Amino acid sequence: MKSNKDIAELMDEPACEHNKKEKSGCAKPKPGSAAGGCAFDGAQIALLPIADVAHIVHGPIACAGSSWDNRGTRSSGSDLYRIGMTTDMTEQDVVMGRGEKRLLHSIKQAVDTYSPPAVFIYNTCVPALIGDDIDAVCKAAEEKWGVPVVPIDCAGFYGTKNLGNRIAGDAMVKYVIGTRDPDPLPPEITPEGIKVHDVNLVGEYNIAGEFWHVLPLLDELGLRVLCTLSGDARFREVQTMHKAEVNMMVCSKAMVNVARKLNQQYGTPWFEGSFYGITDTSQALRDFAKSIGDDDLTARTEALIVREEARIRAALEPWRERLKGKRVLLYTGGVKSWSVISALQDLGMVVVATGTKKSTEEDKARIRELMGEEALMIEDGSPKALLKVVEDYKADILIAGGRNMYTALKARIPFLDINQEREFGYAGYEGMLELVRQLALTMESPVWPAVRAPAPWKAARTVA
Ligand code: SF4
Repeated sequence: MKSNKDIAELMDEPACEHNKKEKSGCAKPKPGSAAGGCAFDGAQIALLPIADVAHIVHGPIACAGSSWDNRGTRSSGSDLYRIGMTTDMTEQDVVMGRGEKRLLHSIKQAVDTYSPPAVFIYNTCVPALIGDDIDAVCKAAEEKWGVPVVPIDCAGFYGTKNLGNRIAGDAMVKYVIGTRDPDPLPPEITPEGIKVHDVNLVGEYNIAGEFWHVLPLLDELGLRVLCTLSGDARFREVQTMHKAEVNMMVCSKAMVNVARKLNQQYGTPWFEGSFYGITDTSQALRDFAKSIGDDDLTARTEALIVREEARIRAALEPWRERLKGKRVLLYTGGVKSWSVISALQDLGMVVVATGTKKSTEEDKARIRELMGEEALMIEDGSPKALLKVVEDYKADILIAGGRNMYTALKARIPFLDINQEREFGYAGYEGMLELVRQLALTMESPVWPAVRAPAPWKAARTVA
Protein backbone atom coordinates (compact mmCIF):
# COMPACT_ATOMS: atom_id res chain seq x y z
CA MET A 1 0.00 0.00 0.00
CA LYS A 2 1.22 3.51 -0.76
CA SER A 3 2.50 5.56 2.16
CA ASN A 4 1.43 9.15 2.81
CA LYS A 5 4.87 10.21 1.60
CA ASP A 6 4.38 8.46 -1.79
CA ILE A 7 1.04 10.15 -2.27
CA ALA A 8 2.36 13.56 -1.20
CA GLU A 9 5.17 13.20 -3.75
CA LEU A 10 2.68 12.52 -6.54
CA MET A 11 0.56 15.47 -5.46
CA ASP A 12 3.55 17.85 -5.52
CA GLU A 13 4.36 17.31 -9.18
CA PRO A 14 7.18 19.80 -9.88
CA ALA A 15 6.24 20.07 -13.57
CA CYS A 16 2.83 21.55 -12.70
CA GLU A 17 2.81 25.28 -13.26
CA HIS A 18 1.38 26.17 -9.83
CA ASN A 19 4.04 24.09 -8.10
CA LYS A 20 6.78 25.82 -10.05
CA LYS A 21 5.49 29.16 -8.80
CA GLU A 22 4.39 28.61 -5.22
CA LYS A 23 5.07 24.96 -4.39
CA SER A 24 1.49 24.73 -3.24
CA GLY A 25 0.94 21.11 -4.27
CA CYS A 26 -2.30 19.89 -5.84
CA ALA A 27 -5.50 20.54 -3.94
CA LYS A 28 -6.16 17.85 -1.34
CA PRO A 29 -9.23 15.81 -2.15
CA LYS A 30 -12.36 16.79 -0.24
CA PRO A 31 -15.16 14.38 0.63
CA GLY A 32 -17.04 13.72 -2.59
CA SER A 33 -14.12 14.53 -4.93
CA ALA A 34 -13.94 10.94 -6.08
CA ALA A 35 -17.50 11.25 -7.44
CA GLY A 36 -15.91 12.33 -10.73
CA GLY A 37 -13.72 9.20 -10.67
CA CYS A 38 -11.44 7.78 -7.97
CA ALA A 39 -7.69 7.17 -8.19
CA PHE A 40 -8.29 3.62 -9.42
CA ASP A 41 -10.55 4.89 -12.18
CA GLY A 42 -7.90 7.42 -13.19
CA ALA A 43 -5.12 4.83 -13.27
CA GLN A 44 -7.12 2.32 -15.22
CA ILE A 45 -8.41 4.85 -17.72
CA ALA A 46 -4.84 5.99 -18.35
CA LEU A 47 -3.47 2.52 -19.05
CA LEU A 48 -6.40 0.51 -20.38
CA PRO A 49 -5.73 1.60 -23.98
CA ILE A 50 -2.50 -0.47 -23.93
CA ALA A 51 -4.25 -2.99 -26.09
CA ASP A 52 -2.40 -6.29 -25.73
CA VAL A 53 -2.05 -6.29 -21.93
CA ALA A 54 -4.32 -8.30 -19.58
CA HIS A 55 -5.73 -5.66 -17.22
CA ILE A 56 -6.86 -7.27 -13.94
CA VAL A 57 -8.76 -5.26 -11.35
CA HIS A 58 -8.05 -6.64 -7.88
CA GLY A 59 -11.17 -5.88 -5.85
CA PRO A 60 -14.91 -6.35 -5.64
CA ILE A 61 -16.76 -6.64 -8.93
CA ALA A 62 -18.25 -3.14 -8.71
CA CYS A 63 -14.87 -1.39 -9.17
CA ALA A 64 -14.28 -3.09 -12.52
CA GLY A 65 -17.94 -3.05 -13.47
CA SER A 66 -18.32 0.68 -12.99
CA SER A 67 -15.29 1.64 -14.98
CA TRP A 68 -14.73 -0.95 -17.67
CA ASP A 69 -14.49 0.24 -21.26
CA ASN A 70 -15.68 3.74 -20.48
CA ARG A 71 -13.24 5.42 -22.82
CA GLY A 72 -13.91 5.08 -26.54
CA THR A 73 -10.29 4.33 -27.33
CA ARG A 74 -9.53 2.31 -30.48
CA SER A 75 -6.91 -0.31 -31.22
CA SER A 76 -5.54 -1.21 -34.64
CA GLY A 77 -4.91 -4.83 -33.62
CA SER A 78 -5.18 -6.69 -30.33
CA ASP A 79 -8.39 -6.14 -28.40
CA LEU A 80 -7.44 -7.94 -25.20
CA TYR A 81 -7.83 -4.61 -23.36
CA ARG A 82 -11.57 -4.79 -23.94
CA ILE A 83 -11.95 -7.95 -21.87
CA GLY A 84 -12.86 -6.91 -18.35
CA MET A 85 -10.90 -8.98 -15.80
CA THR A 86 -11.33 -8.82 -12.05
CA THR A 87 -10.57 -10.92 -9.00
CA ASP A 88 -14.18 -10.32 -7.92
CA MET A 89 -13.43 -10.28 -4.17
CA THR A 90 -16.31 -11.09 -1.87
CA GLU A 91 -16.91 -10.66 1.86
CA GLN A 92 -15.75 -14.26 2.34
CA ASP A 93 -12.38 -13.44 0.78
CA VAL A 94 -12.02 -10.46 3.09
CA VAL A 95 -12.96 -12.42 6.21
CA MET A 96 -10.81 -15.42 5.31
CA GLY A 97 -7.88 -13.32 4.04
CA ARG A 98 -7.95 -14.96 0.58
CA GLY A 99 -7.34 -11.81 -1.49
CA GLU A 100 -3.74 -12.53 -2.44
CA LYS A 101 -4.50 -16.13 -3.34
CA ARG A 102 -7.36 -15.04 -5.55
CA LEU A 103 -5.10 -12.55 -7.26
CA LEU A 104 -2.46 -15.19 -7.98
CA HIS A 105 -5.11 -17.48 -9.49
CA SER A 106 -6.47 -14.67 -11.62
CA ILE A 107 -3.03 -13.90 -13.02
CA LYS A 108 -2.56 -17.59 -13.85
CA GLN A 109 -5.92 -17.73 -15.58
CA ALA A 110 -5.16 -14.61 -17.65
CA VAL A 111 -1.72 -15.94 -18.64
CA ASP A 112 -3.03 -19.44 -19.47
CA THR A 113 -6.00 -18.22 -21.46
CA TYR A 114 -4.60 -15.27 -23.38
CA SER A 115 -0.77 -15.50 -23.22
CA PRO A 116 -0.49 -11.71 -22.91
CA PRO A 117 2.94 -10.01 -23.15
CA ALA A 118 2.23 -8.54 -19.69
CA VAL A 119 -0.38 -8.38 -16.94
CA PHE A 120 -1.30 -5.16 -15.13
CA ILE A 121 -2.81 -5.41 -11.63
CA TYR A 122 -4.91 -2.51 -10.37
CA ASN A 123 -5.27 -2.36 -6.59
CA THR A 124 -8.58 -1.01 -5.26
CA CYS A 125 -9.89 0.13 -1.86
CA VAL A 126 -10.85 -3.20 -0.30
CA PRO A 127 -7.57 -5.14 -0.81
CA ALA A 128 -5.60 -2.00 0.12
CA LEU A 129 -7.56 -1.73 3.39
CA ILE A 130 -7.04 -5.36 4.33
CA GLY A 131 -3.36 -5.07 3.46
CA ASP A 132 -2.95 -7.39 0.45
CA ASP A 133 0.67 -7.19 -0.66
CA ILE A 134 0.15 -6.88 -4.39
CA ASP A 135 3.81 -6.09 -5.07
CA ALA A 136 4.82 -9.45 -3.59
CA VAL A 137 2.10 -11.34 -5.50
CA CYS A 138 3.09 -9.68 -8.77
CA LYS A 139 6.74 -10.54 -8.18
CA ALA A 140 5.93 -14.15 -7.37
CA ALA A 141 3.67 -14.50 -10.42
CA GLU A 142 6.29 -12.97 -12.68
CA GLU A 143 8.90 -15.46 -11.49
CA LYS A 144 6.51 -18.36 -11.76
CA TRP A 145 5.10 -17.74 -15.24
CA GLY A 146 7.86 -15.64 -16.79
CA VAL A 147 5.52 -12.81 -17.84
CA PRO A 148 5.95 -9.23 -16.61
CA VAL A 149 3.28 -8.55 -13.97
CA VAL A 150 3.05 -4.86 -13.10
CA PRO A 151 1.49 -3.70 -9.80
CA ILE A 152 -0.44 -0.44 -10.04
CA ASP A 153 -1.24 0.54 -6.48
CA CYS A 154 -4.16 2.91 -7.05
CA ALA A 155 -6.75 2.33 -4.32
CA GLY A 156 -9.65 4.71 -4.85
CA PHE A 157 -9.32 6.40 -1.46
CA TYR A 158 -5.81 7.68 -2.27
CA GLY A 159 -7.45 10.58 -4.10
CA THR A 160 -8.95 11.82 -7.31
CA LYS A 161 -8.92 10.52 -10.85
CA ASN A 162 -6.10 12.89 -11.70
CA LEU A 163 -3.91 11.41 -8.97
CA GLY A 164 -4.72 8.00 -10.43
CA ASN A 165 -3.41 9.14 -13.83
CA ARG A 166 -0.12 10.04 -12.18
CA ILE A 167 0.06 6.79 -10.24
CA ALA A 168 -0.35 4.99 -13.57
CA GLY A 169 2.40 7.07 -15.18
CA ASP A 170 4.64 6.48 -12.21
CA ALA A 171 4.16 2.71 -12.48
CA MET A 172 5.11 2.80 -16.17
CA VAL A 173 8.32 4.71 -15.44
CA LYS A 174 9.17 2.45 -12.51
CA TYR A 175 8.41 -0.96 -13.97
CA VAL A 176 8.08 -0.80 -17.77
CA ILE A 177 9.86 2.01 -19.59
CA GLY A 178 13.49 1.21 -20.26
CA THR A 179 13.14 -2.57 -19.96
CA ARG A 180 13.74 -3.19 -23.68
CA ASP A 181 15.39 -1.42 -26.58
CA PRO A 182 13.40 -0.87 -29.78
CA ASP A 183 13.47 -3.66 -32.37
CA PRO A 184 16.08 -3.27 -35.07
CA LEU A 185 14.45 -0.37 -36.82
CA PRO A 186 14.23 0.45 -40.51
CA PRO A 187 17.12 2.58 -41.82
CA GLU A 188 17.47 5.99 -40.27
CA ILE A 189 17.32 7.58 -43.69
CA THR A 190 14.25 6.78 -45.79
CA PRO A 191 14.54 6.06 -49.55
CA GLU A 192 13.44 9.67 -50.10
CA GLY A 193 16.51 10.81 -48.12
CA ILE A 194 14.55 11.91 -45.05
CA LYS A 195 16.25 11.50 -41.67
CA VAL A 196 14.00 9.62 -39.26
CA HIS A 197 13.51 10.88 -35.69
CA ASP A 198 11.94 8.84 -32.86
CA VAL A 199 9.25 10.51 -30.76
CA ASN A 200 6.66 9.61 -28.10
CA LEU A 201 3.24 11.00 -27.30
CA VAL A 202 2.19 10.99 -23.67
CA GLY A 203 -1.48 11.35 -22.74
CA GLU A 204 -2.84 10.65 -26.24
CA TYR A 205 -5.66 8.10 -25.99
CA ASN A 206 -6.77 7.63 -29.60
CA ILE A 207 -10.39 8.31 -28.71
CA ALA A 208 -12.61 7.20 -31.57
CA GLY A 209 -9.41 6.54 -33.53
CA GLU A 210 -8.63 10.26 -33.77
CA PHE A 211 -4.86 9.87 -33.61
CA TRP A 212 -5.04 8.13 -36.97
CA HIS A 213 -5.82 11.58 -38.42
CA VAL A 214 -2.43 12.77 -37.20
CA LEU A 215 -0.19 9.74 -37.64
CA PRO A 216 0.12 9.99 -41.46
CA LEU A 217 1.43 13.54 -41.07
CA LEU A 218 4.09 12.43 -38.59
CA ASP A 219 5.03 9.56 -40.93
CA GLU A 220 5.39 11.96 -43.81
CA LEU A 221 7.71 14.17 -41.76
CA GLY A 222 9.88 11.21 -40.77
CA LEU A 223 8.74 11.31 -37.12
CA ARG A 224 8.60 7.66 -36.03
CA VAL A 225 6.25 7.23 -33.08
CA LEU A 226 7.90 4.75 -30.70
CA CYS A 227 4.89 4.82 -28.40
CA THR A 228 1.74 6.74 -27.68
CA LEU A 229 1.05 6.42 -23.98
CA SER A 230 -1.45 4.98 -24.15
CA GLY A 231 -3.76 5.08 -27.19
CA ASP A 232 -3.37 2.07 -29.49
CA ALA A 233 -0.13 1.19 -27.64
CA ARG A 234 1.43 -2.23 -27.14
CA PHE A 235 3.40 -3.31 -24.09
CA ARG A 236 6.60 -3.71 -26.12
CA GLU A 237 6.28 -0.10 -27.33
CA VAL A 238 5.92 1.29 -23.80
CA GLN A 239 9.12 -0.55 -22.86
CA THR A 240 11.08 1.45 -25.45
CA MET A 241 9.88 4.96 -24.61
CA HIS A 242 13.26 5.93 -23.15
CA LYS A 243 14.79 5.90 -26.63
CA ALA A 244 12.76 8.79 -28.09
CA GLU A 245 14.38 12.09 -29.01
CA VAL A 246 11.44 14.13 -27.80
CA ASN A 247 8.16 13.61 -25.93
CA MET A 248 4.95 15.49 -26.59
CA MET A 249 2.55 15.87 -23.64
CA VAL A 250 -0.87 15.77 -25.20
CA CYS A 251 -3.02 16.28 -22.12
CA SER A 252 -1.39 18.65 -19.69
CA LYS A 253 -2.45 17.27 -16.35
CA ALA A 254 -2.81 13.60 -16.92
CA MET A 255 0.68 12.11 -16.99
CA VAL A 256 2.99 15.08 -16.80
CA ASN A 257 5.13 13.14 -14.32
CA VAL A 258 6.07 10.67 -17.09
CA ALA A 259 7.45 13.43 -19.32
CA ARG A 260 9.30 15.00 -16.40
CA LYS A 261 10.82 11.74 -15.20
CA LEU A 262 11.91 10.71 -18.71
CA ASN A 263 13.57 14.09 -18.94
CA GLN A 264 15.32 13.58 -15.62
CA GLN A 265 16.39 9.99 -16.19
CA TYR A 266 17.13 9.97 -19.92
CA GLY A 267 17.43 13.68 -20.77
CA THR A 268 14.52 13.53 -23.25
CA PRO A 269 13.11 17.02 -23.86
CA TRP A 270 9.34 17.45 -23.81
CA PHE A 271 6.74 19.99 -24.78
CA GLU A 272 3.04 20.35 -24.23
CA GLY A 273 0.64 20.59 -27.12
CA SER A 274 -2.68 19.64 -28.57
CA PHE A 275 -4.04 18.32 -31.84
CA TYR A 276 -7.41 20.04 -31.53
CA GLY A 277 -7.87 22.82 -34.06
CA ILE A 278 -5.85 23.97 -37.05
CA THR A 279 -3.66 26.43 -35.16
CA ASP A 280 -2.76 24.00 -32.39
CA THR A 281 -2.09 21.09 -34.74
CA SER A 282 0.32 23.24 -36.75
CA GLN A 283 1.94 24.47 -33.55
CA ALA A 284 2.45 20.91 -32.31
CA LEU A 285 4.17 19.93 -35.55
CA ARG A 286 6.37 23.04 -35.35
CA ASP A 287 7.26 22.22 -31.74
CA PHE A 288 8.45 18.75 -32.75
CA ALA A 289 10.77 20.29 -35.34
CA LYS A 290 11.96 22.94 -32.88
CA SER A 291 12.72 20.44 -30.10
CA ILE A 292 14.60 18.14 -32.47
CA GLY A 293 16.51 21.02 -34.05
CA ASP A 294 16.84 19.57 -37.56
CA ASP A 295 16.73 22.37 -40.21
CA ASP A 296 15.55 20.04 -42.94
CA LEU A 297 12.72 18.81 -40.71
CA THR A 298 11.76 22.41 -39.91
CA ALA A 299 11.58 23.30 -43.60
CA ARG A 300 9.54 20.21 -44.45
CA THR A 301 7.22 20.85 -41.48
CA GLU A 302 6.53 24.42 -42.64
CA ALA A 303 5.81 23.19 -46.17
CA LEU A 304 3.45 20.51 -44.84
CA ILE A 305 1.64 23.04 -42.64
CA VAL A 306 1.12 25.43 -45.57
CA ARG A 307 -0.22 22.62 -47.74
CA GLU A 308 -2.49 21.08 -45.08
CA GLU A 309 -3.85 24.37 -43.76
CA ALA A 310 -4.74 25.49 -47.30
CA ARG A 311 -6.41 22.17 -48.00
CA ILE A 312 -8.42 22.06 -44.80
CA ARG A 313 -9.44 25.73 -44.89
CA ALA A 314 -10.81 25.21 -48.40
CA ALA A 315 -12.72 22.12 -47.22
CA LEU A 316 -14.08 24.04 -44.20
CA GLU A 317 -15.26 27.04 -46.21
CA PRO A 318 -18.78 25.77 -47.04
CA TRP A 319 -19.30 24.86 -43.35
CA ARG A 320 -17.94 28.09 -41.96
CA GLU A 321 -20.89 30.08 -43.31
CA ARG A 322 -23.29 27.75 -41.54
CA LEU A 323 -21.52 27.99 -38.19
CA LYS A 324 -20.29 31.60 -38.18
CA GLY A 325 -21.50 33.62 -35.20
CA LYS A 326 -23.12 30.64 -33.47
CA ARG A 327 -22.75 30.81 -29.71
CA VAL A 328 -21.25 27.91 -27.78
CA LEU A 329 -21.16 26.98 -24.13
CA LEU A 330 -18.19 24.70 -23.67
CA TYR A 331 -18.10 22.63 -20.52
CA THR A 332 -15.09 20.37 -20.51
CA GLY A 333 -11.96 20.03 -18.45
CA GLY A 334 -8.20 20.17 -18.71
CA VAL A 335 -6.41 20.78 -21.94
CA LYS A 336 -9.60 20.63 -23.97
CA SER A 337 -10.94 23.77 -22.30
CA TRP A 338 -8.47 25.90 -24.27
CA SER A 339 -7.60 23.81 -27.28
CA VAL A 340 -11.24 23.39 -28.29
CA ILE A 341 -11.86 27.13 -27.83
CA SER A 342 -9.16 27.81 -30.35
CA ALA A 343 -10.68 25.23 -32.72
CA LEU A 344 -14.14 26.81 -32.43
CA GLN A 345 -12.76 30.31 -32.90
CA ASP A 346 -11.00 29.08 -36.03
CA LEU A 347 -14.53 28.42 -37.33
CA GLY A 348 -15.82 31.89 -36.48
CA MET A 349 -17.95 30.63 -33.59
CA VAL A 350 -18.35 32.56 -30.32
CA VAL A 351 -17.50 30.72 -27.11
CA VAL A 352 -19.65 32.40 -24.43
CA ALA A 353 -18.21 30.51 -21.47
CA THR A 354 -16.04 27.53 -20.67
CA GLY A 355 -15.79 25.08 -17.80
CA THR A 356 -12.57 25.08 -15.82
CA LYS A 357 -13.26 22.60 -13.07
CA LYS A 358 -10.39 20.34 -14.08
CA SER A 359 -8.17 23.04 -15.57
CA THR A 360 -4.79 24.08 -14.23
CA GLU A 361 -3.83 27.71 -13.67
CA GLU A 362 -1.89 27.45 -16.90
CA ASP A 363 -4.98 26.23 -18.76
CA LYS A 364 -6.90 29.20 -17.37
CA ALA A 365 -4.20 31.64 -18.49
CA ARG A 366 -4.49 30.24 -22.00
CA ILE A 367 -8.26 30.60 -21.90
CA ARG A 368 -7.87 34.27 -20.98
CA GLU A 369 -5.43 34.71 -23.84
CA LEU A 370 -8.01 33.31 -26.28
CA MET A 371 -11.22 34.74 -24.86
CA GLY A 372 -9.99 37.94 -23.23
CA GLU A 373 -9.64 38.90 -19.57
CA GLU A 374 -13.39 38.89 -19.08
CA ALA A 375 -13.75 35.25 -20.14
CA LEU A 376 -16.53 33.55 -18.22
CA MET A 377 -15.10 30.44 -16.56
CA ILE A 378 -17.57 28.18 -14.85
CA GLU A 379 -16.70 25.84 -12.03
CA ASP A 380 -20.22 24.80 -11.14
CA GLY A 381 -21.24 22.10 -13.59
CA SER A 382 -24.62 21.34 -12.04
CA PRO A 383 -27.48 21.06 -14.56
CA LYS A 384 -29.13 24.16 -13.08
CA ALA A 385 -25.98 26.29 -13.39
CA LEU A 386 -25.26 25.13 -16.95
CA LEU A 387 -28.79 25.82 -18.12
CA LYS A 388 -28.70 29.27 -16.56
CA VAL A 389 -25.54 30.13 -18.51
CA VAL A 390 -27.14 28.79 -21.71
CA GLU A 391 -30.15 31.04 -21.13
CA ASP A 392 -28.29 34.16 -19.95
CA TYR A 393 -25.73 34.06 -22.73
CA LYS A 394 -28.08 32.80 -25.44
CA ALA A 395 -25.91 29.81 -26.33
CA ASP A 396 -26.93 27.85 -29.43
CA ILE A 397 -25.24 24.62 -28.38
CA LEU A 398 -23.75 22.94 -25.32
CA ILE A 399 -20.50 21.10 -25.97
CA ALA A 400 -19.65 18.92 -22.97
CA GLY A 401 -19.06 15.41 -21.67
CA GLY A 402 -21.58 12.59 -21.97
CA ARG A 403 -22.90 13.04 -18.44
CA ASN A 404 -24.36 16.45 -19.44
CA MET A 405 -26.20 15.03 -22.42
CA TYR A 406 -29.57 14.59 -20.75
CA THR A 407 -29.37 18.02 -19.13
CA ALA A 408 -29.15 19.54 -22.58
CA LEU A 409 -31.63 17.27 -24.31
CA LYS A 410 -34.28 17.67 -21.63
CA ALA A 411 -33.92 21.43 -21.96
CA ARG A 412 -34.20 21.03 -25.77
CA ILE A 413 -30.73 22.43 -26.40
CA PRO A 414 -28.44 20.98 -29.11
CA PHE A 415 -25.63 18.97 -27.52
CA LEU A 416 -22.30 17.65 -28.75
CA ASP A 417 -20.24 15.11 -26.79
CA ILE A 418 -16.59 16.16 -26.65
CA ASN A 419 -15.25 13.85 -23.95
CA GLN A 420 -13.84 10.39 -23.83
CA GLU A 421 -17.05 8.52 -24.65
CA ARG A 422 -17.57 10.31 -27.94
CA GLU A 423 -18.08 8.49 -31.21
CA PHE A 424 -16.09 10.77 -33.50
CA GLY A 425 -12.42 11.75 -33.61
CA TYR A 426 -11.69 15.47 -33.68
CA ALA A 427 -7.89 15.54 -33.68
CA GLY A 428 -5.68 16.91 -36.44
CA TYR A 429 -6.67 18.83 -39.57
CA GLU A 430 -8.99 16.06 -40.69
CA GLY A 431 -10.60 16.01 -37.25
CA MET A 432 -11.63 19.64 -37.68
CA LEU A 433 -13.71 18.64 -40.65
CA GLU A 434 -15.40 15.98 -38.54
CA LEU A 435 -16.00 18.48 -35.72
CA VAL A 436 -17.55 20.96 -38.10
CA ARG A 437 -19.75 18.30 -39.68
CA GLN A 438 -20.98 17.13 -36.28
CA LEU A 439 -21.59 20.70 -35.05
CA ALA A 440 -23.62 21.57 -38.14
CA LEU A 441 -25.59 18.33 -38.10
CA THR A 442 -26.37 18.76 -34.41
CA MET A 443 -27.46 22.38 -34.58
CA GLU A 444 -29.36 22.08 -37.85
CA SER A 445 -31.21 18.92 -36.89
CA PRO A 446 -34.94 19.30 -37.62
CA VAL A 447 -35.64 17.85 -34.19
CA TRP A 448 -35.04 21.21 -32.43
CA PRO A 449 -37.81 23.27 -34.09
CA ALA A 450 -40.08 20.25 -33.74
CA VAL A 451 -39.57 19.80 -29.99
CA ARG A 452 -39.62 23.53 -29.27
CA ALA A 453 -42.89 24.17 -31.09
CA PRO A 454 -46.10 23.77 -29.08
CA ALA A 455 -47.67 20.32 -29.42
CA PRO A 456 -50.07 20.25 -32.42
CA TRP A 457 -53.13 19.69 -30.22
CA LYS A 458 -52.17 22.64 -28.02
CA ALA A 459 -51.58 24.85 -31.06
CA ALA A 460 -54.99 23.82 -32.48
CA ARG A 461 -56.68 24.72 -29.18
CA THR A 462 -54.99 28.16 -29.17
CA VAL A 463 -56.29 28.93 -32.71
CA ALA A 464 -59.81 27.79 -31.83
S1 SF4 B 1 -11.40 1.70 -5.98
FE1 SF4 B 1 -12.58 2.34 -4.16
S2 SF4 B 1 -13.48 4.35 -4.68
FE2 SF4 B 1 -12.77 3.37 -6.60
S3 SF4 B 1 -14.56 2.27 -7.43
FE3 SF4 B 1 -13.43 0.78 -6.17
S4 SF4 B 1 -14.32 0.95 -4.12
FE4 SF4 B 1 -14.99 2.77 -5.27
